[in-house]
Amino acid sequence: MIRPPKRPRTALLFPLLLPSALAIALVIVPAAAASPQVRSDRTVAARYVIAPDPEGRSVKVEARMTLKEGTVVLKDFGQLKSIRWTIGGKNVDVPAERRQDAIVFGPWPATGEARIVYELACVTEPGPEYRKRLMGGRNFVLAREGLFLVPAGLERDLVEVRWDLPEGWKPALGTPGTLPYIETQRTIWAAGRLSSRVEEAFGGSTFTIAVLDDTSPLSALPSVEALKAAFGYAWVTFGPLEGRTFGVGIFRRGALGGGTAFFHTLAAEESPSIAVHEMLHWWTNFTTPAWFREGAHTYMATRLLEKLGIITAEDLRSALEGFLREHEQVVKREGRLSTLAESSVAYDRQTGGGDMYGLMPLLAAKLDREIRAANPSAGLEQVFAVVASERLQKFDLPALIKSLTGYDPGPLFKKYFYAKVEDPAELLK
Ligand SMILES: [Zn+2]
Repeated sequence: MIRPPKRPRTALLFPLLLPSALAIALVIVPAAAASPQVRSDRTVAARYVIAPDPEGRSVKVEARMTLKEGTVVLKDFGQLKSIRWTIGGKNVDVPAERRQDAIVFGPWPATGEARIVYELACVTEPGPEYRKRLMGGRNFVLAREGLFLVPAGLERDLVEVRWDLPEGWKPALGTPGTLPYIETQRTIWAAGRLSSRVEEAFGGSTFTIAVLDDTSPLSALPSVEALKAAFGYAWVTFGPLEGRTFGVGIFRRGALGGGTAFFHTLAAEESPSIAVHEMLHWWTNFTTPAWFREGAHTYMATRLLEKLGIITAEDLRSALEGFLREHEQVVKREGRLSTLAESSVAYDRQTGGGDMYGLMPLLAAKLDREIRAANPSAGLEQVFAVVASERLQKFDLPALIKSLTGYDPGPLFKKYFYAKVEDPAELLK
């Protein structure tokens, strides 16, 4: 069972790693819709064997399928290194056309049984521009929907997925076996050398935490404890999630450049703040703008750690000072001081917006303090809970804050959101 950590509030033995623009990449996914119908004939439309390179530099996939007419699509995110087609026992060339993140193959010279072997390059040096789609490193690989070549139109059929892992590796995220193709697209797939993999049951669901071997056990432990505690708390406070399996992978520092959440899986470096930030994304309302979805969210994750006794009030304070330093970096990196309103829009357009992890969490902290000062029984968490429980609904957030808490955020937003904040230290007061 998931329950709050038994440890009382103790001094921190680990540094709180702050989320930075580099560290946290948002993965925008629509909230999971109702499960699609799987075709009733239950035939397996494709079989995949995924074989990572032991150094994590690439992943080789062998796909077998029956090709009829049409096209085959690989959403490779630009990472395809090579592909070999064998149809009806003959090696053939198949035309390919890139369409943004995907490559469309076809038409093929013959129909029939096909064996397609392709190799995808992993990103091994995380950078601020790279979206965490296919990554690798010593002793691990991490991928998402881009692993699977699929005949167009067969997206609702069953497929079979198997790992062919290097010696000593184990699956960390994703459940191999026979599954509807669509489910291969709704999980992070990861494997590597593990130091532990624990499964916790709660109700009829399972929560799995895999810790990769290269993490140091002592520094991974607080992340695991934080995740268990935060998951239990969020489940009760922000409402249950629809899924039945939830998976987490904890990676060594520097392996990923922060973390990433995708449907009900996440990968995070060994840092409670990164891990809990990513986990709260399971509850994110993706219709909300970046200032709430990432900025208020970043503050909420840190505040939740304090509330659960994972970090102290002092740690929370130094985390806020960390956001201030992040803000200074953002101004340097982006070459200008933007208003938070501009920054939120820029983030959503993927043209910057680094202050969603700098100044915006600070404004969220001030907003939370002001709400609580005006109404001791209210807080930003209450707003977060309402927005999270209606994940598909669009909200007028300032109006919601006012109606839920009685506090009007208008003046605060006028001063610090719509205008440039020349003295950001004011937000710490
Ligand atoms: Zn995030």
